[in-house]
Amino acid sequence: MKHLIDQLEADHKLSKDEWIQLIQNRTPELSQYLFEKAQKVRIQHYGHDVYIRGLIEFTNYCKNDCYYCGIRRSNSNVRRYRLSKETILSCCKTGYALGFRTFVLQGGEDGYFQDDIMVDIVQSIRENYPDCAITLSIGECSHERYQKLFDAGANRFLLRHETFNAEHYSKLHPAKLSAKHRQDCLWDLKQIGFQVGSGFMVGSPYQTVENLAEDMLFLQNFNPHMVGVGPFIPHHDTPFKNHSAGTLELTLFMLGLIRLTLPKVLLPATTALGTIAPNGRELGILAGANVVMPNLSPEDVRKDYLLYDNKISTGSEAAESLKELEKRMESIGYHITINRGDSKNMTE
Ligand code: SAH
Repeated sequence: MKHLIDQLEADHKLSKDEWIQLIQNRTPELSQYLFEKAQKVRIQHYGHDVYIRGLIEFTNYCKNDCYYCGIRRSNSNVRRYRLSKETILSCCKTGYALGFRTFVLQGGEDGYFQDDIMVDIVQSIRENYPDCAITLSIGECSHERYQKLFDAGANRFLLRHETFNAEHYSKLHPAKLSAKHRQDCLWDLKQIGFQVGSGFMVGSPYQTVENLAEDMLFLQNFNPHMVGVGPFIPHHDTPFKNHSAGTLELTLFMLGLIRLTLPKVLLPATTALGTIAPNGRELGILAGANVVMPNLSPEDVRKDYLLYDNKISTGSEAAESLKELEKRMESIGYHITINRGDSKNMTE
């Protein structure tokens, strides 16, 4: 299988059958081989820098009912909250002082945040922090709404495709959500001019190796600026509560593959990865990741933005403990940098 990794390193693409073979036949030795190459490529483009993003989870209201997600509409055990513009700005202020130059506003699809309210929030952050990047992660919207948010000053958008395969997508979502619509949104965002992040969960229920191969083909084709990949983790109040979590091993392997496919991509070592293993994020960096996204949300709401069980939000995951995160990164030979950290995957 090493020849497929060599081929991927040279051509940045594989065929569907090759992806299947490679993922299916992976071994610890092969993973090691992959990670060495992925790190080499990562260092070539980003050195030993780790980019940080301050994550502000500004609402946990959601009109959608994704079967895997803890804040899905049907979960009546969630204490719902939404942050005011003032609170969001105060999170940015704290974050800026800590060294964050990217703010990520993530939330459920909350009807309260109509276009004018959202535009006002984005404009206010833009005015107060002209040197910072504003990233939104607020789900599927119309082209018109995306355009308004871009014009208001948002630069980036995270919208994982979740899974490329339509049939698999339909096993994870209610019928009114479709893989095609989600992908259409991604193309829209790109066309408008956002730096776009796509991605998927590893080990989500019913996922096959073929599905993962299709996800890799989609990434090859879509060529996103960022890719968010983390393990699926069950949440006790969802239909998938009895399904098992994705593994650390497969998630790291996928991260390595993504680094070789899209050498300049921004690739976070996700919170979910840090949740399934205490040193998950360090291992993610060593597999080719180059971004971490500590939590900047007000402390009293962090436990209410529970997408999956045991989600970490304290310790080195908390923005205010940047020093600890720094130490962890330095222990593996990397260091946190204070800058916007734009994607170098900008050529089309
Ligand atoms: N409403 C936004 C943000 C969703 S939450 C949107 O639609 O994009 C961000 C990501 O968390 C999701 O895209 C999903 O991939 C991930 N996620 C949700 N539930 C999860 C779970 N149980 N385990 C792991 N990741 C999960």
